Amino acid sequence: MGKKIIVAGAGHGGLTAAAQLARAGFDVTVYERHKKEDLGYDWFDALNPNVFQIVGCPHPEAVGIPWKWRADVTYFGPNTTEAHKIPQQFHNQNEIEIIMERRDIYKLLIGFAENNGVKMEYGVTIKAPLLAGDRIVGVSTDQGDFYADLVIDAAGMESVIRTQLPDCLHIQKHPLRNERIYTYRAFYDLPVDPKTVKDVYKVMFCPDPGDFSLSWIYTQDTYTDLLIGHMTPPSAQEVEEIAERYRQENPQLGKTRLRGGQTVPIPFRRPLSIMVADGYAAIGDAAFMTMPLNCSGISTSIEVSKILADAVIADTTGTYSAETLWQYQYEFFQKIGKGIAPISLVKDMITSLTHAQMDYAFDTGIITYRELTITADQHSIRQFLHFDPQLPKRGLTLAKDRDLLKKAAGAVADTAAFLAWAELLPRKYSRAAVQNWAKGYDKIFTRHLHSLFPAYFSDRPSV
Ligand SMILES: Cc1cc2nc3c(=O)[nH]c(=O)nc-3n(C[C@H](O)[C@H](O)[C@H](O)COP(=O)(O)OP(=O)(O)OC[C@H]3O[C@@H](n4cnc5c(N)ncnc54)[C@H](O)[C@@H]3O)c2cc1C
Repeated sequence: MGKKIIVAGAGHGGLTAAAQLARAGFDVTVYERHKKEDLGYDWFDALNPNVFQIVGCPHPEAVGIPWKWRADVTYFGPNTTEAHKIPQQFHNQNEIEIIMERRDIYKLLIGFAENNGVKMEYGVTIKAPLLAGDRIVGVSTDQGDFYADLVIDAAGMESVIRTQLPDCLHIQKHPLRNERIYTYRAFYDLPVDPKTVKDVYKVMFCPDPGDFSLSWIYTQDTYTDLLIGHMTPPSAQEVEEIAERYRQENPQLGKTRLRGGQTVPIPFRRPLSIMVADGYAAIGDAAFMTMPLNCSGISTSIEVSKILADAVIADTTGTYSAETLWQYQYEFFQKIGKGIAPISLVKDMITSLTHAQMDYAFDTGIITYRELTITADQHSIRQFLHFDPQLPKRGLTLAKDRDLLKKAAGAVADTAAFLAWAELLPRKYSRAAVQNWAKGYDKIFTRHLHSLFPAYFSDRPSV
């Protein structure tokens, strides 16, 4: 039998890493707190279909699992009238995502894992990592202690493993305020003929009074999907009031809740600065790998699982130390992290805009369809750095609002600082060099956040 690997939590990237490692001969067990039938959420998700091929997982079509193409999005600022909308535009078919029920995604990924020999243990709640010094050697659970040569942390944003690692590893435990978004999501009845709905997938920036908010109203054939995203969790009463207000302009949103109805936090930030330690690697939401503007994380975590599995398979020492697992983090940053991390700076800038500034940016062409057409496979700051002959005009328009200009200039300066710092990511692991790089990386983002939201952080020292 090969070396023993524990995957903590049946996260998406954890499952596909498990499948690839079991296929390579490792003895892999996934410990998941929920029962198999209770996994995931009662809604569908959008994802990039190309990732299945990358990890060798069958396309849902090949195994009879339903999927369909996602509808194009129409974006609105706080002013949701017809004249102010920006429709998404794709330039090639490859950019378009598919949608699948979350339970079907799990069916596909668990089937892929089991067919490759992964052992799935449901109903096991992990309580903490098991440590030998500062090496992670297993997991302590409500059903006993389990040891392994490597623990892959796929237990989500508030992973009980990552949050209890020794401080000396310098692995960030919790996201800061503004680095997570709380999303309420539910499906309601559809009281009108869907053919009469003009913009079937409306995404609205700052539709609600107060701090930044992001909502969507997505009309399906037989129901309407409502998402409400806020920086602090909305109460049940607030959700009702917001939905009622949306109904005034959106008769497609019925009053009867058919499915869903949970509020769930999502990482809304850059990836973790250090995601490996001796005997440990984090993936997916546990490593904050979501795209910082649209919060999609499924495709990225599946894609990244190939990088992780390859690094583990390539470790001929069989030690799975921070030094050998560093290859995973290094490649992740080169291929994906470097592109998505600075989008977090743009996100912070956007979430700091007043409603009037957001409308101004929508109405005067400062924000265009290019910035908004972001899908799971386009995870890069390059999306924002395209050539545009309108750029001088957009710059002049921006300059007319001094505060907006200051915020935009801050995001541009910190993006430049990040891109320079990213080049210094150590190629070879040494704890001191990696921790030093991580400190500089976190500082760029935290400083940016503090400058935009001084009131949130007035009682805390800068990182
Ligand atoms: C409303 C909403 C809509 C979203 N829409 C999309 C979308 O359209 N497309 C997209 O790509 N992403 C979307 N996301 C984000 C997506 O859910 C995550 O990025 C994705 O799930 C990746 O996270 P993960 O698999 O790493 O972790 P998770 O999905 O959080 O999975 C972690 C797993 O670990 C288990 N676990 C946690 N703690 C323990 C423990 N102590 N013991 C044992 N098991 C444990 C959990 O039960 C869970 O099964 C959405 C999220 C929300 C909330």
